[in-house]
Amino acid sequence: MTATKGSTVPMKPADWTKNLPRPAYKNLKKISAEDNWFSVYDLGHGTYAIYEDGQYEESISYLLLGKDRALLVDTGNGIANLRAQVRELTGLPVLLVNTHHHIDHVGSNYLFDEIAAFDDDMGLARRTAALGYFHEKAKTYIGGSAVWKPYPEGFDPAAFCIPPYRITRWLIDGEIFDLGGREVEVLHTPGHSPDSICLLDRGARMLWVGDMFYTGQIYTWLAGGDLNLLIRSYRRLVDLSSHYDLLMPSHNEPAIEKEMLRKALDGAVQVRDGSGEYIVLEGGRRKYDFGRFAFITGPDGK
Ligand SMILES: [Zn+2]
Repeated sequence: MTATKGSTVPMKPADWTKNLPRPAYKNLKKISAEDNWFSVYDLGHGTYAIYEDGQYEESISYLLLGKDRALLVDTGNGIANLRAQVRELTGLPVLLVNTHHHIDHVGSNYLFDEIAAFDDDMGLARRTAALGYFHEKAKTYIGGSAVWKPYPEGFDPAAFCIPPYRITRWLIDGEIFDLGGREVEVLHTPGHSPDSICLLDRGARMLWVGDMFYTGQIYTWLAGGDLNLLIRSYRRLVDLSSHYDLLMPSHNEPAIEKEMLRKALDGAVQVRDGSGEYIVLEGGRRKYDFGRFAFITGPDGK
């Protein structure tokens, strides 16, 4: 997910907290967190989910530990100190990689020194790193019913913005992060955004999918979104499905069964072919509901 660019389409209804706690968390091992802002879960295989359940994006960052290095996937909304939270979990050197560069994935990027990114055609990663996101946009992520937890100590809503950050490594499709006894492969999977990547850990049998899939409303209508590319990316991931069991989305719930990706592919094909049923939202955008997930397209169904 990401911002609504000033539109009136609600990201989530005002009563979004009634979904909490979400069912997937019942079976996960919660561990104590440095800052009450984050809820931290041990997913096994040296993998942690750092969940921002106090804010309506319900962003999830992940920490993957190898023997020599740690990989941090996404940094959420930047409301609490994610670096301190990560340091509580590991003393290893940390390389940060973002699944893409929308505001709700890069909030705490500025707190990290080593940042890898995919250089997309639209320059989304470069632009976001150079500018961050200004207060005018960032404030929409904390207004109204967006936050239910108390803000962390020292957080100033009136000054909230996403600071710029420095990308230190450009990625290519197929590249491998070697964490020491653990390898994670980069897959360029555009569709939600041009810079979207997935991360495949064949050893842990986990696939990080960013905003390509989560149990919620998946957007194809944002600038740089492309339904046809999303379908192509889904196909690529489904073709690799003998190498993973669990999907690790960047919102709402971690550790989702991989079969949902096939369902997302089927749903996206229905949307494209015009056979999917939809309702029209405010602003003309369409919502195609498939139960545990939905697609929100532009008024043209793309
Ligand atoms: Zn998102």
